[in-house]
Amino acid sequence: MARKNPNIVITGTPGVGKTTHAEELARNLGLKHLSVNQVVKDEGFHEGKDEETGSWIVDEDKLLDYLEATDLNSNGGYILDWHACDLFPERWIDLVIVLRCDSTILYDRLSSRGYKGKKLDENMDSEIMQVLLDEARESYKEEIVVELRSDRAEDMEGNVERVEQWAEAWKKDNAGYVEG
Ligand code: ADP
Repeated sequence: MARKNPNIVITGTPGVGKTTHAEELARNLGLKHLSVNQVVKDEGFHEGKDEETGSWIVDEDKLLDYLEATDLNSNGGYILDWHACDLFPERWIDLVIVLRCDSTILYDRLSSRGYKGKKLDENMDSEIMQVLLDEARESYKEEIVVELRSDRAEDMEGNVERVEQWAEAWKKDNAGYVEG
């Protein structure tokens, strides 16, 4: 294992604050923010949109090939921001952050984003049923999965600080594993 920088997944229901956290962390830690949804869109790794939910029907093989061709596994230093996390091979990932949000707050955030009807209901159910947290716990070792609240600005500040401390410790712990 020769990665010099950690890879972090930030996941959670739409609207919980993944992009906001990922951008702030990428800036502060000098990591690369990779918005998986953006890659799917830009590179056309999809078969159109699901009519009812409005989300992309993702071609996971193409997406994985694309990620495999980056220096994600060799060098690391990525923040992968996506509403799913079970796709990434365990060997790539050092920390999985599952952001959680109070339902009233999330309802307001999604409504102001224009979500309504089935799309709004499904995402609200998903948050209440902690679908992404369960998915993360099923896909990765328990000790690398952390659940963090993202209701208020103060939550985000605390979360960012905590992850920065974690990244520093990771670098220290992994400093000895140099190639050769
Ligand atoms: P996601 O990427 O998970 O869909 P975003 O980062 O786009 O979520 O955040 C959705 C909205 O909620 C944005 O307007 C953002 O400013 C706001 N938001 C996210 N997290 C927080 C937080 N902890 N406190 C206050 N507002 C937040």
